[in-house]
Amino acid sequence: MSTPQPETVKCLIVGSGPAGYTAAIYTARANLRPVVYEGLTPGGQLTITTDIENFPGYPAGVSGPVMMEELRQQAVRFGTEVRSGMVTRLDLGQRPFAVEIDHGKQQLRAENLILATGATAKYLGLPSEARFRGMGVSACATCDGFFYRGKDVAVVGGGDTACEEATYLASICRRVYLIVRKNYLRASKAMQHRVFSTQNIEVIFEHNTREVLGDEGGVTGALLVGPADVERRIEIDGFFLAIGHHPNTELVQGQIDLDEQGYIITNHTRTNVPGVYAAGDVQDPHYRQAITAAGSGCMAALELERAAMMEDA
Ligand code: FAD
Repeated sequence: MSTPQPETVKCLIVGSGPAGYTAAIYTARANLRPVVYEGLTPGGQLTITTDIENFPGYPAGVSGPVMMEELRQQAVRFGTEVRSGMVTRLDLGQRPFAVEIDHGKQQLRAENLILATGATAKYLGLPSEARFRGMGVSACATCDGFFYRGKDVAVVGGGDTACEEATYLASICRRVYLIVRKNYLRASKAMQHRVFSTQNIEVIFEHNTREVLGDEGGVTGALLVGPADVERRIEIDGFFLAIGHHPNTELVQGQIDLDEQGYIITNHTRTNVPGVYAAGDVQDPHYRQAITAAGSGCMAALELERAAMMEDA
């Protein structure tokens, strides 16, 4: 008796955030019959937030889960097959690529792959921080800063991103505390200069956050601890983390070119492996926004479509 051959998929999309679903809309409309694996967070990062006010086409704003459900429906409408499950192993050494789902529950082959697995913001790991996530605790100043206009906020971190986010928030908020673990900033000299010359930023060196304070209405302050265990309490409405992101690239480590932070290196969404494309936050250490993720999802789909057409010709 012959062993059944695993299913072969023309276009496999790993991830169901704005990048994955946009890639699905385009590849489905190009008749590439995409299959999307949703992963552990169907809809991606936007499903853990409330209001999205900066995605074009929603003049009154939209809730993250609603927007992602609409994107899913739009992808399905054109014939995308959305499946629940995690891709747990990829073998890019042969084409079609070998794909394992949910630790061996299913095996399949993919002629082309779009990796849209996103990135995860790093948090301090405090229980109080988790409690107030989305109620004053945020890892995205560009996304959430506007909600704190005229208010006092804190930014945690000492690198370029933290300095950039602090100066951005300083243009909207009344006062910004920049909480730095070390006694210096790791940011570039130009960034440091911007921070030190912005009047409403106070840099608090050599302090860690012991607790994010708040009540049922959200964040009200933070308890910091400095040298000799001396505590300092600040009153704030927003607590922003800027201590880095972790790109979700474990699946392709050692098989595809990554930068020193672990992001997939792309050229117009093409990776160094023919037939493998990457879109969204997983290949973007700079912008990390829904609209840029969606834009690169579109690019990956068009790149794939054109390459597939050449291969079929
Ligand atoms: P994600 O949205 O991160 O989606 C990744 C997907 O990959 C998920 O579906 C996950 O389940 C899946 N996945 C991962 N690994 C696997 C695997 N092995 N197998 C299968 N699937 C897998 N941006 C804005 O533009 N405006 C905002 O207001 C805004 N607010 C935000 C608020 C918060 C709290 C956060 C965290 C982010 C916010 N962002 C906002 C940023 C925005 O969410 C991201 O830039 C965007 O979601 C990135 O899209 P993506 O498709 O690349 O990845």
